[in-house]
Amino acid sequence: MGFRLATNLGGRAVLVGDDGLIDLEAATNGEFSADPMVALARYDELRAVGDRLVGRAADAPADLDALGPCVPAPRQIFGVGLNYRSHAEESGMALPTVPMIFTKFVSSLAGPTADVPIVSGLVDWEVELVVVIGRGGRDIPANAAWSHVAGVTVGQDVSDRGVQFASNPAQFSMGKSFRAFAPIGPAIVSVDLLDDPDDLALTCDVDGVREQDGRTSDLIFDVGSLVEYLSSICELYSGDLIFTGTPAGVGVAKGRFLAVGQTMVSTIDGVGTLTNRCVTP
Ligand code: ZN
Repeated sequence: MGFRLATNLGGRAVLVGDDGLIDLEAATNGEFSADPMVALARYDELRAVGDRLVGRAADAPADLDALGPCVPAPRQIFGVGLNYRSHAEESGMALPTVPMIFTKFVSSLAGPTADVPIVSGLVDWEVELVVVIGRGGRDIPANAAWSHVAGVTVGQDVSDRGVQFASNPAQFSMGKSFRAFAPIGPAIVSVDLLDDPDDLALTCDVDGVREQDGRTSDLIFDVGSLVEYLSSICELYSGDLIFTGTPAGVGVAKGRFLAVGQTMVSTIDGVGTLTNRCVTP
């Protein structure tokens, strides 16, 4: 039995059940912390909690607008550029031979239905699988990587292409770190709830038009390889996020960008959906 762990707008850890949201601390009589960053570190034990809560009435309806980012305060957020062959090709870039890493700064995190400010005419969409580290460490081998993962969630790596490529040489981090440029959620979904965590379908629709349609099995560097590479350099901490890259179909390759009034819907099958309106800054 697995879990879907989210964070409500009061900052408390909640489990997303069939009937609604269940307050984790209350439902476990204080065994688990209300602090989602503390709770997610005990992901192994959390998997069993679902069984014990079967039949328990929800504390609140499953209102996604009531949720903040499911991981509200990671110590590190890693992004991976050009990690799908099709996306590297549409970008006119050579396939990477080592992972191309940048960061999205923590202040860009937002909840699953957050409004995204359209800060320029060059703001683009990137649906991504986001990995949530449960147990950190250094030098984690690829074949042990999934055992260090608390779960996965849906992320949007919203990107201002002008800022991303403004400097020479370019750096990606600033153009991807405006307010609410990192909506995630709705929940951390434990790995055991996924049929094959290395083959998940992900899509992004903008105003009902299917812009991206890919599978994580097409990743150039899969989750195991990314965890191995990152942990060979940086110590990973519980709660760290890895935005694993986006498949083909981004706006810049089509000469189209997000406009105020549009709605982005980003989905990973079996994980969840983000719905984000584009608004005036
Ligand atoms: Zn990205």
